[in-house]
Amino acid sequence: MARTIVRAGPPVKLPVRRAAARVTGDGCVPRTPSLHSCPMSHLHLSSRFVTQLPGDLSLDNAPRPVKGALWSKVAPTPVAAPRLVLCAPDVAALLGLTPADVEALVPVLAGNALAEGSTPFAANYGGHQFGNWAGQLGDGRAIGLGELNGYELQLKGAGPTPYSRRADGRAVLRSSIREFLCSEAMHHLGVPTTRALALVKTGEDVVRDLLYDGHPEAEPGAIVCRVAPSFLRFGTFELPAARDDVALLQKLFDFTRTQYFPELPDAEAVLHEVARRTARLVAHWQAVGFVHGVMNTDNMSMLGLTLDYGPYGWTDDFNPGWTPNTTDARERRYRYGNQPAVGMWNVERLGVALLPLMGDDEAKLEAALLEYQRAFETAAADRWAAKLGVKNDADFIGFVNELFAWLGEVETDMTLFFRGLSAVLKQAQPTRFPDALRPAFYGEPGEAHLARGLAWLSRWWHQARHAGATAAQLDAQNPKYVLRNWLAQEAIDAAHAGDESKLRALYQVVQRPFDEQPGQEHFAQKRPEWARNRPGCSSLSCSS
Ligand code: AMP
Ligand code: MG
Repeated sequence: MARTIVRAGPPVKLPVRRAAARVTGDGCVPRTPSLHSCPMSHLHLSSRFVTQLPGDLSLDNAPRPVKGALWSKVAPTPVAAPRLVLCAPDVAALLGLTPADVEALVPVLAGNALAEGSTPFAANYGGHQFGNWAGQLGDGRAIGLGELNGYELQLKGAGPTPYSRRADGRAVLRSSIREFLCSEAMHHLGVPTTRALALVKTGEDVVRDLLYDGHPEAEPGAIVCRVAPSFLRFGTFELPAARDDVALLQKLFDFTRTQYFPELPDAEAVLHEVARRTARLVAHWQAVGFVHGVMNTDNMSMLGLTLDYGPYGWTDDFNPGWTPNTTDARERRYRYGNQPAVGMWNVERLGVALLPLMGDDEAKLEAALLEYQRAFETAAADRWAAKLGVKNDADFIGFVNELFAWLGEVETDMTLFFRGLSAVLKQAQPTRFPDALRPAFYGEPGEAHLARGLAWLSRWWHQARHAGATAAQLDAQNPKYVLRNWLAQEAIDAAHAGDESKLRALYQVVQRPFDEQPGQEHFAQKRPEWARNRPGCSSLSCSS
């Protein structure tokens, strides 16, 4: 199992599977009250997506198939008592805003007011969910406000849209905290991601059945303002393609190419670029131990960003078979070790959607899948070699796969193990199992296991020294602080009890993941026993 980490997936030649469209959705949701004007009158939003692509202007939130349009005009539903809980000053700066501006913009960030120039919209897209074509999905609770400084602003949890189906268009505080913290943690780790500008509590309750076991409860509601150059998804292309609306597909493609890939000539070139970016993204996830949890094609970014933080998780022990998502507990399609193969499967779905723009030439699609494999193998090998401070030479793949197999044998904390390597490198070539790595074990490893580990580490030490690696170089590749599931849960529990200090402390820590942060050892601990089977820590439902 562990040997699949570096490899991208099955070798070519891959079957090209075309999807059949099936549109679902019925039921009814309430409509929008009026909005106030924006408190920052000089703030002006615009939207290339809205002005350049066909939209549906009906303002009818009844769930319905939306055809011939890539977005629907919607209005955020105002909330009772918005309060800013977290703001990311560096994201504000990207937008040309100060933290004081963000505070002043709370009515806009809560959906209670509209900025000048804003045409709020819900994007229309489809997607493959858990391997099956799901038809039209769309932004059921995300509302685009427009762009500032080239970045789109989007409110997640701001009320229903025509794509909400039977759901309420809202988000709970716990999932909003998870989205805010993880997008920022990922960014500071260097992983491409959508960002989070602000987390606002709405002052309203939202009812959720956390474990889907017939126990719905009221929870505090919240809205995250997400920020990205674009929220275009693979599924944005899949929907018009599945409906045989080639004219709309062409418009969407022309827009995407000119706005985001102006240097690329055609659909084949864009597909190759998206394949490369996706491959590099997934390689990066693997290297930090991030498990997305729901790699459906509606959650795959055309820009190669980590998108849609739901039941994601961080591997505590190095377990290729682990997924945090309880909805996927049986098949474990989106488990850590399967992410590389799923990334390629998803690129294939995008390629199938783009076939009409590539002269229906399946060889072009197969070439893109090969490109994915090449890009993944290169990126993954480079990342793991950098984490180990050794050369990515002909023997490297076998060498690192030996480590993966060993790490998977007994419960071993991935983050602690890799971070601990710098201390081992500083010492003489190990002749007994290094003390610096012992805290990484969750249990007591047997002598035979330690002996095998020592044999590998001894070879590693020699190679890393020979390659001139330094402890500082290793520490710059192996984070000390990642957003461990139990840390997020601890911050959520405290916030629910009215104490937001843990949340702020955790946000501070994840902004400097590679630095030693004296006094913050708590945030570098392996998973405590209380968190082993606690919902939200080792397993997460999609209820959010
Ligand atoms: P996700 O798995 O979170 O990416 O969501 C899948 C689909 O369900 C997307 O179209 C979401 O917009 C929609 N969705 C999820 N939660 C809600 C909600 N509370 N209200 C409306 N739509 C939702
Ligand atoms: Mg989604």
